[in-house]
Amino acid sequence: MPKMIPEPFRIKVVEPIKLVPRPEREKLLVEVGYNPFLIRSEHIYIDLLTDSGTSAMSDRQWAGIMEGDEAYAGCRNFFHLDETIRDIFGFNYFVPTHQGRAAEKILFSIALRAGQYVTNNMHFDTTQANIEAVGGRPVNLVIDEGLDPTSRHPFKGNLDLDKLTSFIEEVGAENIPLGMITVTNNSGGGQPVSMENIRGLKDVLAGYDIPFFIDACRFAENAHFIKQREPGYADKTILEIANEMFSYADGCTMSAKKDGLVNIGGFLAMNDEELYQSACNQLILWEGFPTYGGLAGRDLEAIARGLREALDESYLAYRVGQIEYLVGRLLEAQVPVVEPPGGHAVYLDVRRFLPHVLQSQFPAQALAAQLYLEGGVRGVEMGSVMFAHRDSETGRMVYPDLELVRLAIPRRVYTQTHLDYVAETIIELYQRRDRIQGMEIVYEAPFLRHFTARFKPVS
Ligand SMILES: *Cc1c(COP(=O)(O)O)cnc(C)c1O
Repeated sequence: MPKMIPEPFRIKVVEPIKLVPRPEREKLLVEVGYNPFLIRSEHIYIDLLTDSGTSAMSDRQWAGIMEGDEAYAGCRNFFHLDETIRDIFGFNYFVPTHQGRAAEKILFSIALRAGQYVTNNMHFDTTQANIEAVGGRPVNLVIDEGLDPTSRHPFKGNLDLDKLTSFIEEVGAENIPLGMITVTNNSGGGQPVSMENIRGLKDVLAGYDIPFFIDACRFAENAHFIKQREPGYADKTILEIANEMFSYADGCTMSAKKDGLVNIGGFLAMNDEELYQSACNQLILWEGFPTYGGLAGRDLEAIARGLREALDESYLAYRVGQIEYLVGRLLEAQVPVVEPPGGHAVYLDVRRFLPHVLQSQFPAQALAAQLYLEGGVRGVEMGSVMFAHRDSETGRMVYPDLELVRLAIPRRVYTQTHLDYVAETIIELYQRRDRIQGMEIVYEAPFLRHFTARFKPVS
């Protein structure tokens, strides 16, 4: 096997990127208080902040944009998307939304009441926030291996079905209006869920008459992992695998900014007609008329075409291959990373990268800042800045188990040369890691401080 699968496309349109000189990067970093979130994207060379909404669209998608039918009601692009969603996901009804979180907001506003629970392998942060916004309680039941950065379990996104059964018995099925699973498990490192687990989950939930929804953002990447790793699926197409995954569910929420290969869009799909009618009512209130939802006709067309392209096996092999390639290059140089590689991002394990920096001095933030300084590369801190909190009883700081820098790879955007550059930047930092110092906070907001916090190096 060659180490890297060549890009299965050639480039027709280019967007210049520029590496601003090091003295300027240094100045910019000081200006933003060492928080790469606050740097303008034009000053970033390789931007690995997120894979959401950052995909490159194909020539066919752009051609579809020109074929947008902007009629207020009944535009043809809606019917194309409807047909596509039926083919891939198989649900009877869907409503288009401006992005994934709007689909979540509609679902929880109609299906969930205050005090009730929603189970999941791990809720994504917007899912969790939308459940809490209506007074619901999100519950995470991922298998233990999913929380261990060194475990090489092939499906670390699986939900623990024993934990689920005990939980349902404990709180009562009438207090769980729906159960979910997130494919792949974004909050747990983009790790996949097996078909066996989805089937098992369906059986448990159906046994208690609890509807089952899939958070489907990275369904195609998940299907690729099933094909690669799960016995019995090697000869099935990605479409067949996706069909089977969704055949077990009663509906799904989707952010098309991931495996829809578009820059904006999402949908909520379901089989139940009454639920669909309620969803339409909320949609009209918050998003728009049911045949465009929160989007323009042209956006619906780009999603319909993007969803099909995401099923392409050479695309998926290249896509997941990029993550494996970058992880492989880093492991070759002994750089500590989370294993096995997931579907959309590489995670640097900063407690092993910077063992001399205390968690109270934000080692992952320090490393993210150094990545920008060294190479103009932007990743995101997922450690003490994002997750540390003060215990309300003891008043002491509680630090997260994992201190990570996430490098999310946008779809079809960067080439192998870009990844080589990123690998070399990280390896260079690793070689002089003992000279990297921790940070202290000079400003923080009361909530979600990672977006706006400012730092300076410890003296
Ligand atoms: C991105 C994401 C969402 C939310 O979608 P947006 O389009 O960003 O609103 C929900 N769940 C998962 C797993 C995601 O990755």
